[in-house]
Parts: sequence; C-alpha cells; structure tokens
Amino acid sequence: MFTTPVYLDNNATTATDPRVVECMLPYFTKFFGNPASRHHAFGWEAAEAVDIARMQIAHTIGAEQKEIIFTSGATESNNLAIKGVFEMYAHKGQHIITCCTEHKAVLDTCKSVEKKGGTVTYLPVKTDGLVDLNDLEKAIQPTTILIAIMYANNETGVIQPIAEIGEIAKKHGILFFCDGAQAVGKIPVNVMNDHIDLLSFTAHKINGPKGIGALFVRRKNPRVTLAEQINGGGHERGIRSGTLNVPGIVGFEKALELYRFEMKENTQRITYLKNKLETGICKIPGTRINGHIQHRLPNTTNIQFDDIKGERLMTALIQDMAISAGAACTSASPGPSHVLTAMGLSDEEAHASLRFSLGKFTTEEEIDFAISRITEETQKLRMGLGKNVAGIQY
Ligand SMILES: *Cc1c(COP(=O)(O)O)cnc(C)c1O
Repeated sequence: MFTTPVYLDNNATTATDPRVVECMLPYFTKFFGNPASRHHAFGWEAAEAVDIARMQIAHTIGAEQKEIIFTSGATESNNLAIKGVFEMYAHKGQHIITCCTEHKAVLDTCKSVEKKGGTVTYLPVKTDGLVDLNDLEKAIQPTTILIAIMYANNETGVIQPIAEIGEIAKKHGILFFCDGAQAVGKIPVNVMNDHIDLLSFTAHKINGPKGIGALFVRRKNPRVTLAEQINGGGHERGIRSGTLNVPGIVGFEKALELYRFEMKENTQRITYLKNKLETGICKIPGTRINGHIQHRLPNTTNIQFDDIKGERLMTALIQDMAISAGAACTSASPGPSHVLTAMGLSDEEAHASLRFSLGKFTTEEEIDFAISRITEETQKLRMGLGKNVAGIQY
C-alpha cells in the first residue's frame, strides 16, 4: 500500500530517515550544550559529538577532520567557496571558469563575483550534458584562479568527468571547487582520487535534516585559504563563525553512516526502479531521455514528452505524484530550464520535459502506479482531453 501523491522529487529534498531523527533528539534536550563552551561538561559533550561526526564525515569523502567546515547547506558552502577564493586569490588573477548547467547557487554567486570585478567563463555542455574537456583546457588563462564544476546535475542527474577535471586543474595550478550536493551520499566521492580542493555537500538531499551542510577545504597539496565571509567568534577555522547546529551535525553524520552501510543495496534497488520507470515511460511514443545514458545518478531521470507541456502534465498528475519541471528553486519561475536549453533543447522541448527523482523510500508499487498514470494522462493530453484539478477541460 502507498499513499498519494507519490513522492518522486527527491532531488529537491528528501524525507529525514527516522533513524536519523532518533539520533538527533537527545541533542535538543539532554546534550544541548554549545560546543564552543570550554569550561563545563555541557560544552564538552556537544564538542565531542561534533568531533566524532566531523571525523566520520571527513572520512566518507576521503578527507581529514580539520578539512570539514560545517555550514547551513550547499548554498552557503558554494558562496563561501567561490567568494572566499575570489577574495583571497585576487592578487593571482580574477578569472573563474564554471559551466552553464550549474545550480543557481553557483551561477548567482559567480554573477555576484562579476559585479566585484571578476571575469567568469561559462562553459557550454554537449547535447548529453557533459562538459567538453578540450573546451575547459582552452578556457584556462594565466589569470584563472578557480574551476567550479558540479559533480552531478540536479535536473538531469548527469555526472561530470570530475577526476579528469581535477587533474586538469591540478596540472595548471588552479583550484578546483565542486558542488557535490547531488553526489555525496548517493555515489562514491573521494576528494583525493578526484583532485578536488573544495567540495560542497548537504544533508537534506540524502535523508538527513535540512539546514546543515559542509564545505571541504583542502589543507595540504595545496593548502587552500578562504577569505572570511561570516565574522564573529572565529568558529570553523574562522571561515564560518556562529554556534554550531549540533543536532543537525549529528543527523548529517547519521545520514552518511546509513549511506555507507546501505549504499550497495539502496543503489541496486533505486537503479532497478529508475530503469523500470524509464522503460515504462519510454514505451509512450514520442518520449526521450535528456542527458547521458550512462554517466548519470542512479536515482534521476529527465524525460521529454513530444507535443506536451510539462506543466500541464504535472498539473494533471498533481494529486497522484510530486514531480518537477526543473530545479525546486527555479520551478516557480516560468522560464525554460537553463540546464536543458544549454544541452541544445529548444524552449519548447525544455518545457516538455519533466524530472523524476527517486529515493530510498520509493517502492515498486509507487513506480508501477506512476507509469500507468503518466501513460494515461499523456494520452489524454495528446487527444486534447486533458482535465485540470477543477475538472475544467483544456
Ligand atoms: C540542492 C542543491 C543545492 C543547494 O543545497 P541547500 O543545502 O539546499 O542549500 C546546491 N547545489 C545542488 C546541485 C543542489 O542540488
């Protein structure tokens, strides 16, 4: 049994795993101390919990404890990384290379850097959503200080060739920042193997709580320093002052621990369900998958429906399933997805595309139900028989 609407929007956010909530609870009531309080047991207990979590989180991505800065989420981490590098390394140059299909938290931060005198190259992507490494090499200038390219795309699930990008950055002595919000906790990420100097990630995309994330900042080979963005007390190596979100940190670590223990099983099951959903939907004539077929997250599929407005299909299905036409933060705006248009889709084709993102709580019954409802509504819309929620024909 399942309840509707079925939740197929896990790239926007996920349900917190009850085991994560369980772990967090004592840190609201019993161990409520401020980890910066050095003179009593309340502070020590909280500090110990934070230390353990920091170490485990660091090890999950192949980093050291001191290289993890806790933040409120990936948006904040992205801001700290890009602005922090731009201000700290301005004497070396003011050029940043990023990509057109990045999350708005990277693109808007780059725009703000441009206002402060920086120059930014926005690399195009190929029709499969991947960055062309030759384009990247060609974009590098003597003044380039940072390459900012995401691990996996939130709209299409496309995974960039991160290790190769990291190698190129290293070869040229340029820092490499990666937005790993959709990757860490879904696929193996290792900052050593991938030559990543700065990495953003967040708990709420992987069945952890909202409002807690991290930024990995490399401490050796090379040692990265960031200009401070949040002043006040010097917490988190001075990079991010403010009392730590202890329950959030404990929950973040628990979510990652569950990932470490259950990744293999979850990935297999989610991949199976994603493939089933894709095969089912692609039986409908005039449908195609957006993005590279192999280099993709196990949980994400983005599908284009010929002659259909994605918004209309989404509205027709609104009582049955939660899906999205693009990123959560941009779905309120009427424009076509910047990710899909960068991949060469026309505005119309981008508007005819929908994102389905599964999670560890998605069941096979839900997928079977989704396939049959999508098939029915697509046929109705194509025959001009679509009805909206109020039953009005359009
Ligand atoms: C969700 C997401 C973010 C923002 O993360 P928050 O923790 O919600 O601030 C940034 N980048 C990508 C790729 C995302 O998917």
